[in-house]
Amino acid sequence: MQAPSIIARATSAAAFKTANLRLSSLNRQFSSSNSIMAPITKECDYLVIGGGSGGLASARRASGWYGAKTIAVESKELGGTCVNVGCIPKKLIWNAASIAETIHESKAYGFSVNTTAPFDWLAFKNKRDAYIKKLNGIYEKNLNNDKVEYIAGRAHLTGKNEAEVVLNDGTKQTIKAKKILLATGGHPTIPQNIPGSEYGVDSDGFFKIEKQPKKVALVGAGYIAVEFAGMFNALGSETHLFIRHDKFLRTFDPMVQDAIVAEYERVGVKIHKNSSQSKVEKDEKTGKLTIHYKDSNGEGKLENVDDLVWAIGRSPEVEDLGLEKVGVKQNEKGQIITDEYQNTNVENIYSLGDVIGKVELTPVAIAAGRKLSDRLFGPEKFKNSKLDYNLIPSVVFAHPEVGSIGLTEPEAVEKYGKDNIKVYNTSFTALYYAMLEQEDKGPTKYKLITHGPEEKVVGLHILGLGSGEILQGFGVAVKMGATKADFDSCVAIHPTSAEELVTLK
Ligand SMILES: Cc1cc2nc3c(=O)[nH]c(=O)nc-3n(C[C@H](O)[C@H](O)[C@H](O)COP(=O)(O)OP(=O)(O)OC[C@H]3O[C@@H](n4cnc5c(N)ncnc54)[C@H](O)[C@@H]3O)c2cc1C
Repeated sequence: MQAPSIIARATSAAAFKTANLRLSSLNRQFSSSNSIMAPITKECDYLVIGGGSGGLASARRASGWYGAKTIAVESKELGGTCVNVGCIPKKLIWNAASIAETIHESKAYGFSVNTTAPFDWLAFKNKRDAYIKKLNGIYEKNLNNDKVEYIAGRAHLTGKNEAEVVLNDGTKQTIKAKKILLATGGHPTIPQNIPGSEYGVDSDGFFKIEKQPKKVALVGAGYIAVEFAGMFNALGSETHLFIRHDKFLRTFDPMVQDAIVAEYERVGVKIHKNSSQSKVEKDEKTGKLTIHYKDSNGEGKLENVDDLVWAIGRSPEVEDLGLEKVGVKQNEKGQIITDEYQNTNVENIYSLGDVIGKVELTPVAIAAGRKLSDRLFGPEKFKNSKLDYNLIPSVVFAHPEVGSIGLTEPEAVEKYGKDNIKVYNTSFTALYYAMLEQEDKGPTKYKLITHGPEEKVVGLHILGLGSGEILQGFGVAVKMGATKADFDSCVAIHPTSAEELVTLK
């Protein structure tokens, strides 16, 4: 349609040549869209729906290692939640917040630090976004290197071995596959029953905030709410955290819950305990929010809030996946049900990662994805390959960090009985804080739980500086079945905080 007007505008020879080139490119586009009108059908060994942590890992292993003809479909940016609106941008903000804390603490170490300008939130955000964009490109290149065909579009099942993909330009493709992996992850939820809840953002929206809020409110008691609250507070925003009970991180050991709540209160996060929200109002002129709530102090309203972040949970991304068409079973939360080998109830359809809601962490999705491809496409020795979901270490990038592997104390008591476990606790001030004023010293607390006369370590919970890095190493020992005696037989590294873990009494 546009071609004649292009030619009409070509008055010089050079312009004519350019117009001809564009015309032939348009013709190519036209003929390719012509051929799209006749539905394209592709065939492959392995169709992976969802280009996040689990899907990409599985697709690359299947194709790159075992030569399976693999197609990966992703409807948003490659890399999924972790890369785009999760672990990576979150850890970068955590780093910024930690630097803010270090700047504050550096005075105690003799530095005459005067910050002459506030933290430049927008400049940081732009740089972070550019880094994520670069990662998206690297993920695409990796797929290419491993010969995975990448299709940008949204897929839904149309049959047991078939899916339809609506490409980002609206055209459709049918893909027939011998095996299909559903790795579609999840999305954050926002409460539906609170008038004005739409004035808040979810965790995806958190990453779009362009201006550092002077006053921010967060709702939620899981690790995402706690991490965001810690970062805002460390960067200097007045931070209100609304929790439903009187503690947060409620799946963690009670030692962790008590210590981190106390620490957040100490550093100035305003925690609204036993709270609920009844209404959110927005002043259209100023954009400021008012949150009407109830907490342990009674009814109240929080005014002049710049940003409200809901971090109240996540739901599986299955709404338009066509599960009902082929009869893939889901649980009451909508999560896809699989067995320990990631098999769904439908033959040749598999699922893993956040969409099955087992352990919602990136390395879990990656490991499950790789194991599955080993089993489906690898040599005979991998025919029973599966991820062991026991003893998975996890870290909360709170301020300070929290790390945990294995059973909490109440879980250990329930499983083994109080008389069959032994609990070691230590609480101390890390050497880093020696130079700081008393009111600036943060906590360090460790708990080790052992079982039986051989004192096998069944739980380890640590809170304090560097816990994320510390736990990765100790996680290996716990996973190998280390006993208290094994811990003690490792000579301490001095002076560190982690040395306390090998000298517990
Ligand atoms: C704020 C936040 C912080 C986090 N921090 C950490 C952390 O520090 N450490 C950690 O280990 N984990 C963290 N996580 C969790 C981690 O991001 C997830 O566990 C991980 O991304 C799950 O991987 P997945 O492959 O199952 O799903 P995802 O990574 O969510 O990927 C699923 C992909 O499927 C795509 N998709 C969905 N439906 C379709 C469809 N029909 N067609 C095509 N594509 C589709 C989606 O667009 C998405 O890209 C965090 C999560 C959040 C929200």
